[in-house]
Amino acid sequence: MSAAIGVGKEILSNCSKCKLILAHIIVTMKSATEPDKVQCKTCKSTQSFKDPSAKKKKASVDRVIKSAKRAGSKKSTETVGELWNKAINKMTGSSKEYSMKASFAMGDVIDHPTFGQGVVEKLIDDNKIEVLFQDDFRTLLHKK
Ligand SMILES: [Zn+2]
Repeated sequence: MSAAIGVGKEILSNCSKCKLILAHIIVTMKSATEPDKVQCKTCKSTQSFKDPSAKKKKASVDRVIKSAKRAGSKKSTETVGELWNKAINKMTGSSKEYSMKASFAMGDVIDHPTFGQGVVEKLIDDNKIEVLFQDDFRTLLHKK
């Protein structure tokens, strides 16, 4: 029984023309165990032997690396500055000048004389709001 591969024997190779793993006839050998040129039985083109199992293995390794990279780049925490940037970018309409006498609602953009622009993140109680400024969250009074 000759299980060994050799010239004239059939072997599965990844055909670069058919783009499929197909039966090929070995034309020349690189070594006793490694085919060099093979001929596709389907399209009859002669090409370098491409081990289909080797190619598959490499592709799956690439996929693992890629998914690991994606997981690693995912941010779990955002800085106050990043949150502020997002909130300001989402803003539609104009900002309101801050005054203790004014009334603010969730999502309102405030122009504060000291802290700059901020977004109302939370209504704490009737007279207090939590505002996200570029550097920090601050509690401000309103409806006084
Ligand atoms: Zn082919």
